[in-house]
Amino acid sequence: MDYRDLCELDRKYLWHPFTQMSEWVEADPIVIEEGLGCFIKDMRGRWYIDGVSSLWVNIFGHRKKEIDDAIRGQLDKIAHSTLLGLAGEPSILLAERLVNILRESPGDGGLPLTKVFYSDNGSTAVEVALKMAFQYWLHKGVKGKNTFLSLNMAYHGDTIGAVSVGGIEVFHGTFSPLLFNTLKSPAPYCYRCELGLDRGMCAMACLSEMEKQLKEHNHEIAAVIIEPRMQAAGGMIAAPDGFLRGVRRLCSDYGVILIADEVATGFGRTGAMFACGTEGVAPDIICLSKGITGGYVPLAVTVATEEIYNAFLGEYGQMRQFFHGHSYTGNAIGCAAALAVMDLFDKEDTLNRLRPKIEILEKWLLAIRGRAHVGDTRSAGFMAGVELVKNKETREAYPIQDKTGWRVALDVRTRGVLLRPLGNCVVIMPPLAISEGNLRAMLHRIGESIACVTEKS
Ligand SMILES: *Cc1c(COP(=O)(O)O)cnc(C)c1O
Repeated sequence: MDYRDLCELDRKYLWHPFTQMSEWVEADPIVIEEGLGCFIKDMRGRWYIDGVSSLWVNIFGHRKKEIDDAIRGQLDKIAHSTLLGLAGEPSILLAERLVNILRESPGDGGLPLTKVFYSDNGSTAVEVALKMAFQYWLHKGVKGKNTFLSLNMAYHGDTIGAVSVGGIEVFHGTFSPLLFNTLKSPAPYCYRCELGLDRGMCAMACLSEMEKQLKEHNHEIAAVIIEPRMQAAGGMIAAPDGFLRGVRRLCSDYGVILIADEVATGFGRTGAMFACGTEGVAPDIICLSKGITGGYVPLAVTVATEEIYNAFLGEYGQMRQFFHGHSYTGNAIGCAAALAVMDLFDKEDTLNRLRPKIEILEKWLLAIRGRAHVGDTRSAGFMAGVELVKNKETREAYPIQDKTGWRVALDVRTRGVLLRPLGNCVVIMPPLAISEGNLRAMLHRIGESIACVTEKS
């Protein structure tokens, strides 16, 4: 169908996520037709670098032969069958593979997470983790652990449970009457420290705040949930070294479960396979999704320790089983794609080859800090944010209605790069497999756009 007709039908029939539709229908959208490697092409024949990995999911680029073949091969067997009462080869093989990868993750004895529970997306992976942690304590006979502790500025997905542990006022505030109560502690957002401290002098006082909550409320807290190393959707808030380790220690000291939401950080994003590995931290439950299929099809897992799994065992009549499951749980096409992705990490030596690219990114971030309206730059491996400010001295933010982040994204489109900002934060998160040349070209163009939008007027 031709571009004009599709635009019209889109306006007529679609409701886009996180989108003010009155504005959307006023402009001609980019309609994507195909992708190849780290580029995607629109219907007007223009190619763009996929600068945010199709919303943080893509790893090896588009139309990656190995993943394409794995999916085609699976289609010749079966597309989907249920895990409720049945098993299937791809989900079995993937579970074994994931447990081994977790076990080999750097840190004290790897991540001893051994039981894989499948679902479809990051939000459901989080819902599963929350319910699992809650039901675990019931089975242990520990009463009253009815809430969770999470961080301000946290993002764990858009379903109601995940929103309840979220901490982004603009996304989550609207729904507050619907949410269950949770406890909050400060985000390690050093550039805008909630406690008004400077990083050099603070001794991570935000951890002490978390400890206060745990000391007072540990008997009510089933789990602490955290995005390890990087609170991504909150505005690419990178935690200082040692913060995650501190959270792990507090959870152990106060007897609460640690849920690591690695939906964004998992599968190489931070330079290690899992962000937890970078601090030798073993969570009790990990949530993985986004990159798991290389950005191809929806799939998620929640992986728990043997200890948690064992608490659910018992006689049938005791009804101790975990009460959760989705229609498409353990989908065979998704698992087949994910198996190909895990093979590719080995075959392409992805993490080692990422290192020089992380260096390029870090050097560029350092240089861009010199610009007049770049307040802060933050990164963890191959995920980065550039926070633009109206006034660099006072750190005064641009007003939301200025849409400064968006203006940069729109400008850089004309230079052949697709980005999606988070407010005033320009997010940079290309596929891990991007070439050094394309990475440099992309960063150069983003720099031009930042200068153009923030320094011209
Ligand atoms: C994206 C994201 C989610 C939600 O995943 P969906 O697949 O969009 O539901 C949860 N947690 C984190 C950390 C994320 O970045």
